[in-house]
Amino acid sequence: MNPVWRRELRRILLLLSAALGVGYHFNQMELAFAITCSIYIIWQWLQLYRLQKWLQQEQAGQLPSTIGIWGGIFRETQRLQQRSQKHQQRLQAIINRIQDSTAALQDAVLMVDSQGNLEWWNRAAGDFLGLQAPVDVGQPITNLIRNPLFKDYFDGVHYDEPLSIPSPVNPQLQLQFNITLFGRKDRLMLVHDITRLKQLEEMRKDFVANVSHELRTPLTVVSGYIETMDMAAESLPPRWGRMISQMSQQSRRMENLITDLLMLSRLETSHQQQPDQVAITPMLQCIAADARALSGERNHHISLDIQSDDQIKGYEDELRSAFSNLVFNAVKYTQDGGNIRIRWFHNDDGAWFCVKDDGPGIDQHHIPRLTERFYRADPSRNNQTGGTGLGLAIVKHVLLRHQAELEIHSELGQGSEFCGHFPADRCEYGPLVKEQNPELLKEDISADCCEGRC
Ligand code: ADP
Repeated sequence: MNPVWRRELRRILLLLSAALGVGYHFNQMELAFAITCSIYIIWQWLQLYRLQKWLQQEQAGQLPSTIGIWGGIFRETQRLQQRSQKHQQRLQAIINRIQDSTAALQDAVLMVDSQGNLEWWNRAAGDFLGLQAPVDVGQPITNLIRNPLFKDYFDGVHYDEPLSIPSPVNPQLQLQFNITLFGRKDRLMLVHDITRLKQLEEMRKDFVANVSHELRTPLTVVSGYIETMDMAAESLPPRWGRMISQMSQQSRRMENLITDLLMLSRLETSHQQQPDQVAITPMLQCIAADARALSGERNHHISLDIQSDDQIKGYEDELRSAFSNLVFNAVKYTQDGGNIRIRWFHNDDGAWFCVKDDGPGIDQHHIPRLTERFYRADPSRNNQTGGTGLGLAIVKHVLLRHQAELEIHSELGQGSEFCGHFPADRCEYGPLVKEQNPELLKEDISADCCEGRC
């Protein structure tokens, strides 16, 4: 037994023996016992009362003086209290330090609880988003940042990509929101000022668009002269003929490059108009006819397989450009006499445009980078085809503008398949084109029928 408790027990026994002795002396043993027990209980109650009063004090006051077991209880309680205070002070110091360092951050930091209510923010968040303490504490964040794009992003809970929108208090300020989930669906929001970055991006786009535009006129003049010389090449020495043919090839390449650059900058800068209902069947028939013309003597087997006469809500010239790029790439990169299959079909997930070839295929490590500008899987192969390296970048942009995705399946030596996947709400499904016949529908349309459209 603990020595303190042993002493307390001894004290009780001593008290009881003294009481019983006195009681015996006066022949009132029961009365003496009852009085002693009552006094002991009252004393215990008094100590409990003092303990409670002492614990209720705001500031830890002086330790009440007492004897026996209660002295130990008071001292132990005081020790625990002091330890917890020290712990609390240490935590408070850490919190203050974190708050000071986040307040000094140039980026805004906000904490939002699982219900979407604002809990805490730093000084930059107040400046960027016009938040005011304490009125905005506990308010739904979507009421404080009133922007439909932000609401969709916040409620969507898919925070893989950041969101860029103007500041609600200063439209000149471009902000990028990154949200991370933590705890029980609480959210930590980081808001970065990207105004300067946006300006630089705009400058880059304008620069590319202007340079491409300015180069177009001189290049048309040079190409015109080269073409005239090309026509008279027979009367020139053979060495000249080779030079002129190379000049003509290179000027055509430059023209393609400028056309692609202008298309890309148009896709990046132009604001979207009202979309049209684009009929897919005639467009693909024209592209297939053009692909056959492009293949010419290389004799590819090009088949067109359209499941149903669908329409897509979108922009016809953009879709035509994207689909043509994929089909013409297949013609460019597939060996002579190879097979190319163009398909259009839909299922529950939406509509699909696919181009499959049995060409050389692409090594896996190139695939994630194919849609980067000027990225080429095989530059040597590319020199022969005269590609610009911008085709798939255009395809990606066009598909993005239609909420569609580009999927690439390819294996070295096995051929490639490029598919554009359109969401169902962009499609209007028409009647089936081939209900019974499982064979490929091979449209035999000449390129002439598409003149002016293809
Ligand atoms: P390019 O103008 O060089 O064709 P793209 O952006 O259209 O540029 O294509 C990027 C690269 O992807 C090409 O250089 C080529 O290496 C590869 N590629 C594209 N389509 C195919 C295909 N059908 N088969 C094999 N490689 C392809």
